[in-house]
Amino acid sequence: MLVLGIETSCDETGVALYDTGAGLLGHLLFSQVAMHAEYGGVVPELASRDHVRRLLPLTGQLLERCGRRLADIDAIAYTQGPGLAGALLVGAAVAASLGYALNVPVVGLHHLEGHLLSPLLANPAPRFPFIALLVSGGHTQLMRVDAVGDYQLLGETVDDAAGEAFDKTAKLLGLSYPGGPALSQLAQSGNPRCFKLPRPMIASGDLNFSFSGLKTAVLTLVRGANTGGHAKADIAASFQQAIVEVLVAKSANAVAREGLDQLVVAGGVGANRPLREAMSKKAEREGFAVFYPPQDLCTDNGAMIAFAAAQRLQAGTLGQNHSFSVKPRWRWKPVESARSSVKVNSPAVVGAQASRMVPGLKLAGRSVPKSSLMPGGRVEPWTTVQV
Ligand code: ADP
Ligand code: MG
Repeated sequence: MLVLGIETSCDETGVALYDTGAGLLGHLLFSQVAMHAEYGGVVPELASRDHVRRLLPLTGQLLERCGRRLADIDAIAYTQGPGLAGALLVGAAVAASLGYALNVPVVGLHHLEGHLLSPLLANPAPRFPFIALLVSGGHTQLMRVDAVGDYQLLGETVDDAAGEAFDKTAKLLGLSYPGGPALSQLAQSGNPRCFKLPRPMIASGDLNFSFSGLKTAVLTLVRGANTGGHAKADIAASFQQAIVEVLVAKSANAVAREGLDQLVVAGGVGANRPLREAMSKKAEREGFAVFYPPQDLCTDNGAMIAFAAAQRLQAGTLGQNHSFSVKPRWRWKPVESARSSVKVNSPAVVGAQASRMVPGLKLAGRSVPKSSLMPGGRVEPWTTVQV
């Protein structure tokens, strides 16, 4: 079964082809970081419009690179939520329209389920059951994963997510957006023991987190201290050390509490090198194995969506016709409870609208007219990973 995965929940357009026999055939990502950088954060309307521009040309390029045709696709998966409503709707509309035209099933996935299962794309991959630490810009959670679709929330942040704390602290230090990687890079030349910062909730006895106080502690430091010379790097390193210690301690507690011997670390903050090093050291000491998704699959991507959908479809636990909705505030506990959802037009209407966006693309044998929305249909720059 060949699954096309589409991710448009925020500021990255991601597409991927996952084959249940051959594995991940390839994935392409277009990052909008440069476009949003001048605003210091993601501008939702700009994000949606850019997804409209990029998604179909990117899909065409992916098919070409993987040597497949639209007609080879057996199912289409898209991120249904959580995320920016407009951005999600672009992915949902394109997925439903293509699915309608190709007469294949279309499934909406929870973005975090994609992140959660992404370490299974690594080699070696973990086996069920395992503990997952989900650390992204929007979430910090510890889950017990017993099977595809069988997830138990063990603990989560009571305020800011770890990635959010990285981003906000980076801003305080005057670093450019997106802050996490920039802060981590600055921290390389700093002393992680220079400033004494709190390790929030490290001894709370539960598996919850809190990071907003840490950010405030940095604010106090920045206001009070001379942040010239080396001080900024030292603050960055001290902040990173505090977050890493808390994430490592709580993850190890979760593994021990559940009596398991495998941990997976997923989400954008999982790309953080000091976190990986400290987690691997702790795992070695305490006798559990730790798994990470391939580095390029830590942040948002289409591969995790295609993969998670393929697992769900194979297990027979997902199936959908071509009507769709998005869930911008989709709570992860339980996955099924959507707090808000945006209903859209019938797939036929949306299909007709979306197909105008595809210059030169043939849908189910019909060629599709050009649209003024598409300046030339070319997409650059983009990264590609052949697996
Ligand atoms: P979301 O889907 O919630 O937007 P992602 O999984 O895309 O989150 O991850 C983005 C987050 O990861 C951002 O907060 C970013 O700052 C953080 N991040 C990415 N790389 C690193 C890194 N090397 N160190 C720390 N944080 C990072
Ligand atoms: Mg994400």
